[in-house]
Amino acid sequence: MKNKKTYINEIIKRLSAIYPNAHISLNYSNLFELLIATILSAQCTDKKVNEVTSALFKKYKSFNDFYNVSQEELQQDIKQTGFFRNKAKSIKAISRIIISEYNGEIPTEFDKLVKLPGIGRKTANVVLGNFLGKAEGIVVDTHMIRLSHLLNLTKEKNPEKIESDLSKLIDQSQYIHFSDLIIAHGRNICIARKPKCSDCVLNDICPSAKLK
Ligand code: SF4
Repeated sequence: MKNKKTYINEIIKRLSAIYPNAHISLNYSNLFELLIATILSAQCTDKKVNEVTSALFKKYKSFNDFYNVSQEELQQDIKQTGFFRNKAKSIKAISRIIISEYNGEIPTEFDKLVKLPGIGRKTANVVLGNFLGKAEGIVVDTHMIRLSHLLNLTKEKNPEKIESDLSKLIDQSQYIHFSDLIIAHGRNICIARKPKCSDCVLNDICPSAKLK
């Protein structure tokens, strides 16, 4: 375990050097917008979500606006992000609960957030980590799953178990930073369809490196 911690610290050190400003790429200006954008980002690129939300947030400025619109109209407004029926259903249900149970304010406790419909650990970690700097957990998205396997940080497949394995290796103060670094590296170098191992700063320590 000690060696694995040294290994992961080296990964963090090297990735921090090339992504000094690694940060979530969703556009938002408040907690409400971040929560909605994060829900829309499931199975969708942040770029597409930003295109959709630039118009969406002009039309919807509060949970009341989402609560009062018809399901069909909301579906049309978010259609381009994919899985729009489920996403619209979740946003409507969340809006109803936040209005009725939380007086229109988003709960900022992890346990309450994950009880909202359509909000899993990933969304809660993104929202709390990025907006409030609350390092409750590690964001396990598609990049984190792929890279943690390639880098041999876990053998687990289930996101919760992956998060549990990673959290034993990383200081809690690094949870947000580590998530941002891995996502940046997954987007830029360790790309799913063809990792650019020759250009990767981890290629001498990564067990999956394929060098010509
Ligand atoms: S060496 Fe290749 S497989 Fe390993 S992290 Fe870098 S790009 Fe990904």
